[in-house]
Amino acid sequence: MNRRQALTGAVAAAAGIGASAVGAEEGNVRLPEIDEMTNVCAHEHWGSLPSIGFAGEGFRADNVAGAGSDDVTLFDLLFCPYLHGFLAQGGFDTHGLASAGGYSDIMAMARQEPEKVIAAALPHLRSQRTTGAVTCLTLGVRLLHEFDLDDLSPSNFRAVSDRINMRYRNIFGWYRQAMETAHMAGPYRAVGLSFLLERENPQAAERELSFTKPLLRVDDYLSPAHKANQRFRYTMDKLGMEPTDAATWRAFIGEIMDRAAGAGCIGIKQLQAYSRDLDFQPVGDDAVDFSADEGEGLRTLQNWIVNVFCEEANARGWPFQIHVGTHNLPQSSPLPLATLMVLYPSVKFVMIHTWPYLDETAFLVQQHHNAYVDTCWLPILSHSHMEAALRTYIGYVPGHKLMLSQDATSVELAAGSSQVNRALLRKVLAEKIDDGLIEERHALDLAQWALGDNARAVHGT
Ligand SMILES: [Zn+2]
Repeated sequence: MNRRQALTGAVAAAAGIGASAVGAEEGNVRLPEIDEMTNVCAHEHWGSLPSIGFAGEGFRADNVAGAGSDDVTLFDLLFCPYLHGFLAQGGFDTHGLASAGGYSDIMAMARQEPEKVIAAALPHLRSQRTTGAVTCLTLGVRLLHEFDLDDLSPSNFRAVSDRINMRYRNIFGWYRQAMETAHMAGPYRAVGLSFLLERENPQAAERELSFTKPLLRVDDYLSPAHKANQRFRYTMDKLGMEPTDAATWRAFIGEIMDRAAGAGCIGIKQLQAYSRDLDFQPVGDDAVDFSADEGEGLRTLQNWIVNVFCEEANARGWPFQIHVGTHNLPQSSPLPLATLMVLYPSVKFVMIHTWPYLDETAFLVQQHHNAYVDTCWLPILSHSHMEAALRTYIGYVPGHKLMLSQDATSVELAAGSSQVNRALLRKVLAEKIDDGLIEERHALDLAQWALGDNARAVHGT
């Protein structure tokens, strides 16, 4: 335990609050109740880790219920898809390092020469220590494994890495224990249809599904080219259907949604914002070329398919989580989603992430009864983005429309993100109180709703 940790712990203990308090300075713990509130994690990818691996052109954890591995270590947390990407963008050439040593990738190298990998990673972790991802991982590992990554070295990583490995050998027991420690609930996760319909290991699947709530990813079904995709092929084989025209596509999508609903699915999710704009104008059957796989023809077909999914979600009153911003700028603005919000009044449109379109998102949420925002992933991207988001949303959008999930690849990263949520909520709300704009009870209401109640109400859980 370092000095800062000892100080925070002592202050937290003195204030009678959990060890999860972040930002607590001596004699200045504001709104401490927020640290004990349950944070529902409504958009998560826990288990998207290298050792748990890939299946069906995606992460195994998204396609196989009950997926786990006996090989998860500290290196999975350091080289999860997010952190690995950020470290690479920051100049850490993990591929070059691994291939110079004769390894296929950095995880293979970490298995044989872990000290070398830690030594190479340290300067990059240090330079990214103030960014969201490293902050969240540091806070999460400190809380859940009582190890300070700020003190990480080639000579001390082994004990914490072994401890992480031991926890992950009972992965779903670990998730439950970690959620209790971090005052979290959920997770709700976006999955492929096979996650819902197949049982590779029935006991493990049952353990995961006893607390995990699935949402179906619909991205795999948005173009004919996707028929080459394993998840699309799986769906055609499983349902015994191949969509070719308006009637067969409608039947295909209806059957997907029926099967998903029958297997406990609670909503749908898409990430089209990563590859095109969010202007899904409705289109008549006659105007669609159902074999189009590029250009305007494909775009029109995608618009038609998204509208059919919305009709299905509307009939069920389901939430539809939609990625906004963070990629494909400036094409990923949420403003065109107003078309869908008006056409499908019973769909709860949950715009997720939303940076840098904070004002645009706030506008839609304020204007449409069925529009919501979940700031998930912002703490992991940047606690500064997250603070800006809270400043934009609190004060403009009604209290029942804001959610604060994590969008994390591991329960450790989620636990760190949840601490950032709480620290920044306390800060922004305390300022509003000090400015005489709201009272403490209003701040606590908002925190309780945003951290947990809203996600449960929107997802019907
Ligand atoms: Zn996500």
